[in-house]
Amino acid sequence: MTRKTLVDKIWDLHVVESGAADLIYIDLHLLHEVSSPQAFAGLREAGRAVRRPALAVATSDHDVPTDGRELPPDAGAAKQLQVLADNCRDNDIELHPVGSPGQGIVHVIGPQMGLTRPGTTIVCGDSHTATHGAFGAIAFGIGTSEIEHVLATQTLRARRPESMAVTVTGELPPGVTAKDLALGILAAGGTDAGTGTLIEFRGPAVRALSMEGRMTLCNMAVEMGARSGLVAPDDTTFTYLKGRPRAPRGELWEQAVAEWRTLCSDPDAVFGRELVFDAGSLAPRVTWGTNPGQSVPVDGVVPDPADSTDPGERAAAERALAYMDLRPGTKMRDVGIDVVFIGSCTNSRIEDLRAAADVLRGRRVADGVRGLVVPGSMLVRQLAEQEGLDRVFAAAGFEWRMPGCSMCVGINGDTVAPGQRCASTSNRNFEGRQGAGARTHLVSPATAAATAVAGRFATPADL
Ligand code: SF4
Repeated sequence: MTRKTLVDKIWDLHVVESGAADLIYIDLHLLHEVSSPQAFAGLREAGRAVRRPALAVATSDHDVPTDGRELPPDAGAAKQLQVLADNCRDNDIELHPVGSPGQGIVHVIGPQMGLTRPGTTIVCGDSHTATHGAFGAIAFGIGTSEIEHVLATQTLRARRPESMAVTVTGELPPGVTAKDLALGILAAGGTDAGTGTLIEFRGPAVRALSMEGRMTLCNMAVEMGARSGLVAPDDTTFTYLKGRPRAPRGELWEQAVAEWRTLCSDPDAVFGRELVFDAGSLAPRVTWGTNPGQSVPVDGVVPDPADSTDPGERAAAERALAYMDLRPGTKMRDVGIDVVFIGSCTNSRIEDLRAAADVLRGRRVADGVRGLVVPGSMLVRQLAEQEGLDRVFAAAGFEWRMPGCSMCVGINGDTVAPGQRCASTSNRNFEGRQGAGARTHLVSPATAAATAVAGRFATPADL
């Protein structure tokens, strides 16, 4: 008998019709203002209705201003926000718009509402839907025509992805976070190690992560080329979910947990690809280049492209260093920064803000450094304010913003100026991602906070 991976178990439970590409049932469809307008327009043109409006939830995140709520950054953004509101109203879809208590980054609000659950299939017109895999769900980004298909049928035609195992052995050393782990795995495996796969993160170091940490790790699975990542659910998952507004309650909760406990890869399941990574060797990391795989420890130096034996890699590194204005051999600790951004669906949850605030308490950002903290959702913002974290950030000289994607993607008015260097807790450091000519270095929230204080790359242990 073929032993099954977790991916296969969940997939098999959702196949409506088998084929070269299966038709699979979708349990939750998340929507935001940027990728959904054309899909709704297509639906309207075809004269079709939304099949299961109750299984769709929408929010505004990519385009929204984070300093004042009234003015979207431009006419295009204003239109997208209005069109989302109109489409949700016309189709009876739950919307958490700007100004409402449920608003936030789409990948932050699903888990916090208890909508993201083990064993489910979740899609969204956004590649970082992978975040939801932290709960043991198959969650991945889809394109516009697929959004329309899911709206119309609550199903999706998709090829079963190959399962890949990334086993993280050992323990993360003190001060090393899930973000450092994600960057470390990317540096070891490369940005194409998981191409087309669904990565199951496993092993003791993954089991030891909080749900926030698992979300950060799965969020960055797509940076390895994977369709998504996931972690088998366990007591950490159940504790996080229990009591959340949309989580099952009473007897239904007990039944759900009993079912969720069966969701794991069989001991002798065969994975298409495997990678083993030792957590014990990790240190806080920072990217030096223009893809998330190009990182070194904060106490490391900018690598020399000439050391690369692969001509393609060498050319990519040379181009990255030219864009980033860095020279081989420079100590990362000597690289000064202009902006620090703490936010994005990678690192804007309450645990991330607590980690940053712990570093900033009683300290100030260095002269000339601009710092922004953008909570991932209104709920995260509210929790942080209850704990007084907003006052810690303000006292340290950070701007305390309203929730949204903000400086993760330069389409909402929050950008890094050309030539400026930003330590960012987001997931992508591509050329121009934070604005034309902006130079992005990916780090953890703790490293971002320490860097803001030092004015150059630093870890909390350096302060
Ligand atoms: S925070 Fe960044 S990566 Fe996440 S959904 Fe928004 S734009 Fe995408």
